[in-house]
Amino acid sequence: MKLDILAFGAHPDDVELGCGATIAKEVALGKKIGIVDLTRGELGTRGSAELRDKEAEKAAEILGVSVRENLRFADGFFINDREHQLEVIQMIRKYQPEIVLCNAIDDRHIDHPKGSNLVSNACFLSGLLKIETEIDGVNQEKWRPKQVYHYIQWKNIEPDFVVDVTGYMDKKIDAVMAYGSQFYDPNSKEPETPITSKNFTDSVEYRANDLGRLIGVEFAEGFTSERYVAVENLSKLI
Ligand SMILES: [Zn+2]
Repeated sequence: MKLDILAFGAHPDDVELGCGATIAKEVALGKKIGIVDLTRGELGTRGSAELRDKEAEKAAEILGVSVRENLRFADGFFINDREHQLEVIQMIRKYQPEIVLCNAIDDRHIDHPKGSNLVSNACFLSGLLKIETEIDGVNQEKWRPKQVYHYIQWKNIEPDFVVDVTGYMDKKIDAVMAYGSQFYDPNSKEPETPITSKNFTDSVEYRANDLGRLIGVEFAEGFTSERYVAVENLSKLI
């Protein structure tokens, strides 16, 4: 299945938190989108890997993505080496996306910049003819996405561009809240973590609100790009 956009996240919920509204908007525009989680988030303080699998499935349904896969790398300990790059390349070649979205370039959780580098490196390597991969016994064609953009996570990184997501925040928040075990729940008996605070849950909306304020719309999500962001003509800008 060929996709327009493939979004990678080190943990299930990274994509929803980082760019869930952008994905909901692109789906509404008719784009085919997939999500690939690198790990099952098995080191998360609350819940369990099995529960996160179910939550991720529900969130994918809410966002309307066509496919969601999990590479089952080791949460916290996966590294950016040949073996892991080849598995990411298999996904890129399988879905042939024009655009890849991936983790923040710098962040509090060490898996985020690690996942960011791993996916970005794999996007380049995937375009090299002499790297051979196969999936289900079939050789894969080389494929290099046209663009790789990094969403913004815990840290307030200055975006290179922002997407107007007004009208799609409800979907994003529903998708984020599908991870019921992970976020603010005043009745939970499980330990507190930085992401279980009410402030963190509220930040999903107020940060998008603030980025929107800066560009004159209600809500926006920000991204960074490793190369210059190019537009076809000036009227494409808002
Ligand atoms: Zn994460």
